Amino acid sequence: MKRQKREPKRYEEENGVTAVYLDNNATTAIDQRVADVMLAQFLNGPANASSQHAYGRQSRLNLDAAIEAIGSCLGTRLDQPNGARLIITSGGTESNHQALTGIGERGPLVLSPIEHPSVIATAKWLEQQGRTLRWLDVDQDGLVLLDQLQTLVSTDSHGISLVSIMAANNETGVIQPISKAAEICQAAGIPLHVDATQTVGKLPLNLLDSGISALTFTAHKFHGPAGVGALWLAPELKVKPVFHGGEQQLETRPGTEPVALVIGMARALRLAVDEMDHSVSHCEMLRDRLENGLLERHPGLVVQGKSHNRLPGISSISFLKTDRQSMLMALDMVGIACSSGSACSSGSSPPSHVLAAMNRSSDEIESTLRFGVSKFSTIEEIDVAIDSISNVYNRLRKKTCVDN
Ligand code: PLP
Repeated sequence: MKRQKREPKRYEEENGVTAVYLDNNATTAIDQRVADVMLAQFLNGPANASSQHAYGRQSRLNLDAAIEAIGSCLGTRLDQPNGARLIITSGGTESNHQALTGIGERGPLVLSPIEHPSVIATAKWLEQQGRTLRWLDVDQDGLVLLDQLQTLVSTDSHGISLVSIMAANNETGVIQPISKAAEICQAAGIPLHVDATQTVGKLPLNLLDSGISALTFTAHKFHGPAGVGALWLAPELKVKPVFHGGEQQLETRPGTEPVALVIGMARALRLAVDEMDHSVSHCEMLRDRLENGLLERHPGLVVQGKSHNRLPGISSISFLKTDRQSMLMALDMVGIACSSGSACSSGSSPPSHVLAAMNRSSDEIESTLRFGVSKFSTIEEIDVAIDSISNVYNRLRKKTCVDN
């Protein structure tokens, strides 16, 4: 993949090291081709798609075209009366919040303990308002156990109102059995919400006849702009609004639509889908090179979730006998950007609730870092990263540890 033109990297100049960005599951660099279409729209003049004058009507056309283009990338028509629709939101967090608070009234909410904090915290807030939560277990490699879902669905006499399971975990990359979950939910007539923030634009998706009722995604995970995302809704699904006071988006999510951001999201998704074959194999190759390179030097490292299918570009590695925060800071000093936490908010980074739910040892939980490549990452960067990570690990790991 041709690298995008950028300003010379200030970090490299200031620090005299090669900067390697391996935090692509937190966010990705915007693709130049996406920035170009957004800039053109921004410079096109005022763009309030609800205005009745010519500017507004043109903006509405542009917005609707972008939304339909997004639908065609996801295998779903979005222009049919009473058909499936897309609620434009500010990103994954808002879409998840909208789905959990807006779908299903009173019955229990079923979810897994490895969901993103935006799902877990919303669910716990709903619990305080009186909603019952039912948690599904995961295995030691981070796969949600669906036999429990089957049992719950067949035995819960109070009527489950919503099931929420992520498409792939944002820490381990483990791909979850969503088709099977959809089958179970569909047979029981229960809506299934899928947080697909980590998979849209990275894995093929065909929403038509998928059995999914609602699906969350956001543009900044696939080289689009931050600040825009969506909640896809299956035909006929009713959703209560979070915000009130405007008529936009059929009163489900009022507020002026960010036309340029939606155009950027549509362009980014089109590029991601068109280039998917290449990016999947490229990211897999780089991820394997990173893991194998590190394991060769340090056979004691633990790669989390390795026994399951994982997203192509993500690797969660436990550097036993070190502390993840010290590792992260030392790596940052030598130009390697990765993540140490359970969320994108790694500034405060509490121990991973995902690894805890997987029953991993405290040593693993304390020492795990996440690395994520993108289609713009290069072999040269991975080789620099292997050297730097290995050197930092040798320096920081507790001296009692006999590794190799
Ligand atoms: N869900 C998952 C699985 C994520 O990985 C993230 C962000 O990392 C989110 C939701 C939140 O998305 P956003 O940062 O767009 O609010």
